[in-house]
Amino acid sequence: MIKLKNVNKFYNNNGITNIGLHNISLSLSKNEIVAITGESGSGKSTLLNVITKIDNFDEGEIYYKGNETAYFSIADMDDFRKNKVGFIFQNYNILDSYTVLDNVMLPLLLKGMSKAEARAQAMLLIQKVGLAGREKHRGTKLSGGEKQRCVIARALASDCEILACDEPTGNLDSNTTKQIIDLIKEISKEKLVIVVSHNLYDAYEYADR
Ligand code: ADP
Ligand code: MG
Repeated sequence: MIKLKNVNKFYNNNGITNIGLHNISLSLSKNEIVAITGESGSGKSTLLNVITKIDNFDEGEIYYKGNETAYFSIADMDDFRKNKVGFIFQNYNILDSYTVLDNVMLPLLLKGMSKAEARAQAMLLIQKVGLAGREKHRGTKLSGGEKQRCVIARALASDCEILACDEPTGNLDSNTTKQIIDLIKEISKEKLVIVVSHNLYDAYEYADR
C-alpha cells in the first residue's frame, strides 16, 4: 500500500542541520501491524509523520498504491490526510471540551453524514471500543485509557485504511496498555497499522513485524 524509496529528511534550524531520516526504504501492506522501534531521537515520529503526510521530506520517493505522492494534487493530499489516515498519539488527541459522542461524531459529520445517522454510527463505535455509558462524558472527565479508546473510536469513524499510532500507550499503565493494544489489534483487520514504540520487547507481542 505504501512504499518508501531512499527517503531522506533534514531539519534545518539556525544553520544547524539535523538528520531526521537517512535513506529509508520500506514497504507497508494492508492487513499488517508494523512496529517501528528505536531509541528516543532515532527518527520514529519523523518517519510516521512523513509516511502519513503530516510532514514533508527532502529526497527520495513515496508511493501510495503505486502512485508517487509527489504528484498528488492538493485535493488528493487533502483526501489522503482526511480520509485515509487515522492518528493515535501518546497525548490523546481528543477535544477535551467535547463529549465522547461529539468526538466520535465529528469525522462522520465532516463527511456530510446527517446528524441522526452520525449519532447512531458513533454510538455503535463507542460500544465497540468499550466506552458504552460514557457517551456524555467530556474529555476532561476520562482516564488515559478511556481517552485512547475514544481516539480509537474516532479513527474508526473516519474509516481510515491506515492507522498511525505514535507511542499510543506511552502514558498508560501496563494493564491499560495491554487493553489498548488488544483493541488496536482487534480493529486492525483490513487496515495497515503502524505503531511507533521505543519498546522493542512490547512490540514483539503484537506486531506482525
Ligand atoms: P523519535 O520519535 O524516534 O524520538 P524524532 O523523529 O522525533 O525521533 O527525531 C529524530 C531526529 O530529528 C532527532 O535527532 C531530533 O532531534 C530531530 N528533530 C525532530 N524534530 C525536529 C525539529 N522540529 N527540528 C529539528 N530537529 C528535529
Ligand atoms: Mg517520537
